Amino acid sequence: MLHPHPCKIMEPVDIQTSYEAAITENPDNGNTVAGGGRKKRGVSTHSKFWASNRTLKVAFLNPPSDIHRETAIKAIKSWQPSINLKLEFVSGSEGDIRITMEAPLNYSAIGTDATLRAPGENTMNIGTSPNHPWFEAAVLHEFGHALGLEHEHQHPKANIPWNKPVVYAHYWTAFQWSKEEVDHNLFQSLEISAVRTTPYDPTSIMHYPVPNELTIGDWSVQKNISVSQNDRRLMRKIYPK
Ligand SMILES: [Zn+2]
Repeated sequence: MLHPHPCKIMEPVDIQTSYEAAITENPDNGNTVAGGGRKKRGVSTHSKFWASNRTLKVAFLNPPSDIHRETAIKAIKSWQPSINLKLEFVSGSEGDIRITMEAPLNYSAIGTDATLRAPGENTMNIGTSPNHPWFEAAVLHEFGHALGLEHEHQHPKANIPWNKPVVYAHYWTAFQWSKEEVDHNLFQSLEISAVRTTPYDPTSIMHYPVPNELTIGDWSVQKNISVSQNDRRLMRKIYPK
């Protein structure tokens, strides 16, 4: 089976603008804590969650076919029971989330960073083919980013025993990722934000699969294909009823 490209998040062009967009939408995004204590507000540690109870319009730009679009919508809707947001799927191109579906890359802006993209630009791309057994997982993962989730394998408590030279070689051979891209998307740990206090969850839909041959010793994470209980718990905390 051909493995789809691993997801890369869309980085904001400017951190300060990202911070301002995040706290304008939801002031809680500015509150960060570390080690249980209150920490100075910092632009690099803000979260990017939407305001709870708002409507989030989801548009598809250049949708390839009705069946492709409908299959994606069906997957996205499985987030709905865990979030107090009203997902509205619109037929035009004006949405808070704007999805393209062009092979082969998967990527998304994180939460409120989507507001920094120009109208008409996408905020997410689903590159995995709708016929691929991992299509639904790709949609769930990318939409998790759109809801403000980051990569679970970069959770500060993940401590994955990566075999780094092997990982660099693998990602270069399979996907032509540079050392810097691997560092940024796999190895770099994220800050803990105030609302993001759930324990590390290797079953999260936001975790990359980690084959045993990329780690030292006997350590692996399978390809997760559905939203985990912990993902749902975190979403209920962030978007409470
Ligand atoms: Zn991702």
